Amino acid sequence: MTIPFSRIALCSALCLVLAGCASAPKPTIVQPLVPPSGTGFYHTLEKGQTVYRVAKTYGVTVDELLRANRISDPNHLEIGTPLWVPKTPPAVRPAFTGGVGYEEARHLIRVSRKGAWRTVTLHHSATRQGSAGSFHRDHTRRRMGGLFYHFVIGNGSGSGDGEIEVGFRWARQVKANRPMDVQICLVGDFSRTEPTSAQMESLISLVRAIRDEYGIPVSAVRRHEDIKGKHTECPGRHFPFHRVLSEVSDS
Ligand SMILES: [Zn+2]
Repeated sequence: MTIPFSRIALCSALCLVLAGCASAPKPTIVQPLVPPSGTGFYHTLEKGQTVYRVAKTYGVTVDELLRANRISDPNHLEIGTPLWVPKTPPAVRPAFTGGVGYEEARHLIRVSRKGAWRTVTLHHSATRQGSAGSFHRDHTRRRMGGLFYHFVIGNGSGSGDGEIEVGFRWARQVKANRPMDVQICLVGDFSRTEPTSAQMESLISLVRAIRDEYGIPVSAVRRHEDIKGKHTECPGRHFPFHRVLSEVSDS
């Protein structure tokens, strides 16, 4: 059996829908990305969850879920399998609390098929608010083929403060603009303000996790403005790049 979609995850505790949030594994969703077809979002299968439970959680039938994911044998799905839920994403974004730790970041970046990532580029959105969803819509409108970042780290306006959203390009392990270059965007305009502390914590966890997973040296972590020929001040003069470098270094 093959799963048609790459693994994908997003930190968004669905406490509103799932009971026993404190003890249950944190459910993850991604929204709204480029769907296989029609409206929907991804849910990453967590330990202890079954297709039946996921279907019930989101109010779709088991048949709909199996069909949407072309699953013939629901009893042998691996933990971490991304399930496409053919339904409008929950309208109310669940509250997200603070920065993402290293272990959680390791979990977030897990994919079944690993690309050969070699560099990491950091951006700011140059907007005061936003989310993977709003940037996806914007980038689609601008004919960029949808969300042009692999990860978006929210600032509490439009998405959670410190929330890491995983884009479809990461899930599918495809490039944005440069090959083998991971694009991370922090929501905010750091020409005017600094990232929040939760954003910094999440960014450092994420970059460390990516470095460890792909063996990327710290010298290959750069700002957008560091790329030759790019006339931009992205991610802004208030972005504490040297702090990021020192915190993602090995010792
Ligand atoms: Zn940029």
